[in-house]
Amino acid sequence: MNETVRTTCPYCGTGCGLEVQVGERGEITSLRGDALHPANFGRLCGKGMALPETMILDGRLLHPRVHGQTTSWDQALDRVADGFKAIIAQHGPDAVAFYVSGQLLTEDYYVANKLMKGFIGSANIDSNSRLCMASAVVAHKRAFGADRVPCSYEDIELAELVVIVGSNTAWCHPILFQRLLAARRADTNKRLVVIDPRRTATAMEADLHLPIQSGTDLYLWLGLLVYLQQNGGFDLDFLRRQVEVQPHALELAAAHAGDIATVARRTGLSASEVEQFYSLFLQTRRTVTLFSQGINQSCQGSDQGNAIINCHLATGRIGEPGMGPFSLTGQPNAMGGREVGALANQLAAHLGFDHPRHAEVLRRFWGSPALPARPGPLAVDLFRAVGEGRIRALWILGTNPLVSLPDSNAVRRALDRCELLVVSDVVDTTDTARMAHILLPALPWGEKEGTVTNSERRISRQRAFLPAAGSAKPDWWMLCQVAKRLGHGKAFAYESSAEIFREHAALSAFENEGRRAFDIGALARISEADYHAMPPQQWPLPQDGGGSARWEKGSPFFTPSGRACLMELAPAPDSPAAGGELILNTGRIRDQWHTMTRTGVSPTLSRHTVEPVAEVHPDDARQWGVAEGQLLRLTSAHGTALARTQLKNEQRRGSVFMSMHWSGRFAGEGLVNALVTARTDPFSGQPDAKRSRVRITPVNTLWRGILLSRDPWFEARPSGIGWSRQALEGGLWLTRLEGEEVFDFATATGREWIAGESVEWVEYRDAACGRLRLAALQEGRLQACLFIESREVLPDVAALMSLFGVTRLDERQRLGVLSRSGSSSCRERAVCACAGVSAEGIRRAVAQGLSPTVEAIGKGLKAGVNCGSCQPEIRAILANLAA
Ligand code: SF4
Repeated sequence: MNETVRTTCPYCGTGCGLEVQVGERGEITSLRGDALHPANFGRLCGKGMALPETMILDGRLLHPRVHGQTTSWDQALDRVADGFKAIIAQHGPDAVAFYVSGQLLTEDYYVANKLMKGFIGSANIDSNSRLCMASAVVAHKRAFGADRVPCSYEDIELAELVVIVGSNTAWCHPILFQRLLAARRADTNKRLVVIDPRRTATAMEADLHLPIQSGTDLYLWLGLLVYLQQNGGFDLDFLRRQVEVQPHALELAAAHAGDIATVARRTGLSASEVEQFYSLFLQTRRTVTLFSQGINQSCQGSDQGNAIINCHLATGRIGEPGMGPFSLTGQPNAMGGREVGALANQLAAHLGFDHPRHAEVLRRFWGSPALPARPGPLAVDLFRAVGEGRIRALWILGTNPLVSLPDSNAVRRALDRCELLVVSDVVDTTDTARMAHILLPALPWGEKEGTVTNSERRISRQRAFLPAAGSAKPDWWMLCQVAKRLGHGKAFAYESSAEIFREHAALSAFENEGRRAFDIGALARISEADYHAMPPQQWPLPQDGGGSARWEKGSPFFTPSGRACLMELAPAPDSPAAGGELILNTGRIRDQWHTMTRTGVSPTLSRHTVEPVAEVHPDDARQWGVAEGQLLRLTSAHGTALARTQLKNEQRRGSVFMSMHWSGRFAGEGLVNALVTARTDPFSGQPDAKRSRVRITPVNTLWRGILLSRDPWFEARPSGIGWSRQALEGGLWLTRLEGEEVFDFATATGREWIAGESVEWVEYRDAACGRLRLAALQEGRLQACLFIESREVLPDVAALMSLFGVTRLDERQRLGVLSRSGSSSCRERAVCACAGVSAEGIRRAVAQGLSPTVEAIGKGLKAGVNCGSCQPEIRAILANLAA
């Protein structure tokens, strides 16, 4: 082929453009940031750069399967359609549901929504985007009358003050953060305030970090509103012309957060921290406030979003360059799902259930036989309905709710009960896919065609550069085939993603006349060729060519009055952690994505954090009796999880942080959502993922082990022991094992943990010393080796890895496998994943005379010079050394 294809990164909502070069044999020969893409201008973070490592066929779902048996597309689709038809006939349309994903392309989303709402006649379609930005959608609609983000990325660069609330942007939107850092280097007067309970990599770069008590943000922002009013910060002219202030908005704010002392007491901050922030905000006109999951994932997420927007409306800091409230989306196409309306409480294309005419407009446009009259259940309730048997058939597209939804044990019980569970996905290894009755192979990034929309409303193309593997198909194609079998073939006779996109664009403009914010009517007649070549562009894109990327001051809002709403808000009463429990905060880590289906197979990305980790403040660790590096068990009212203890002064006292990524494929009990409460925001239905109550107890392990194997040589997934696994170079996997129960070194075989047939075993055992070593070979080739020791003396993994490269081990080498010694703790994490440099490596280099600056570390060790995502961590290590 040897061609260059421009496409979009499939990870975070930054939406970076990529240039991929494909060689003669269809392999990626180079991948780099697209210098012309306005989201990243050529930059890429570590996740984007490691994409080629994730393009593997291991674990791919290549053909449809029904009850585990590979079958034809026709048979699988007939089974899906027959199952849905029978359940609808007997129990009505609300007995079936779709659960979709921010990983889908807009075209897939559009077809799923049209089929469920317009032709099946139910609103039972919700998206995993419910988990990341539903509260921001509510806040936008209540304040602006429409779900329209008012800013663009360049506003972050133009602002004099950037406030980041509840977002570890340095790790979760790395390129956006690097744009901010570059702008700060160019303008040293630009200030950065970070509001986050943890001192994250983002907070480390801030001029002011407010380590707020989680769940108290509303007090901080209500207090700011009062402070702005008292200190002449209101833009009275803007308020008079463009804002409706709800009657009790200011009174309620004053009643709950009337002075700095009250705010400080409520938020756990010092009065001086609060005062500094308020004064900076008051004095800085060009202010952008970025907010994300720390605000959204709360049972007051919608109100918290509106509290931020209130302060921008009150000060008129919106609609001009360098200012505005800016919600960041987590997923690559969370915004696309919002545009399409593939959420249970929306109809389509910014048409809503709450508007008297909208259902009729949509019915006419689609020619629908039946449209639902009311919203369907939001994600958490949708799965509750499955668990209670009200929803009997569920099709899950491109997501892994068994890992990502709160109270995962309840979700498992629900899926267990589901009469017909269909999963379309790229891999068959997700925890959810393993429960499916019917598996449908979907096209992954690189093989599929369509569009995605990033946080700043920029629509970009994802382009295919590889042929479809196996018989995988686009999600929209599967949906159309099922629609046809349900008797709706005419409305779903699409031949290409461009055709779907045209219809989506036409619907956005249909009887719109400037009344709905989402309008891309200018693209309603785009040709196949122009769609293929479509450059990244921001909506609105109305047919008449008007529309501005930034909401411009003076333009009407989308409320009936045309004025924005400054809302009345009051914090909900909250109970403090009972019985000395800790508050569990969850979130992303730098180099993994969602449930690790893609990033978890990349050796480069797996170096940064090699197993589930719980970050605990040293004072809490002392109180709870846990030590650095020890395995600990977290227990909540819903379940338990195991994680490695990491002591962090950056962690707020009284809380513990654990990442959201580890699934049953990568760890025995690393699933944080087993602990998380299913409590949700009453307006958005977004789960409160940052404030579950947990207890922690140290786990006294009696033995440790490692298993080094080719995939899929560790398939046993044993219960009752702690294990986690990490991708290594050369298609190898390293599994760490740890047990609380006595391991019987005299009789236990360990062979049950190693899959594979016709295996030749080589074994060494010393029961007195507490040692078992086992190698599995096939035709003389090493496939797996297991080392279990009662003490922490495990062999050097790098040396063992080299033996996997030998085609046929001779006698000496066979014995050599088992006589390996060394002192690898096998847990050293890479700070810079690109260069494989650990914290210890940096400390060693400085001790040996390397200058303790980020630049010198870059020159000497090549760390931090590639994607730059690790620079905040390197800076923190150097600061600790200097302290
Ligand atoms: Fe992808 Fe990184 Fe850009 Fe996000 S910041 S879109 S993960 S390259």
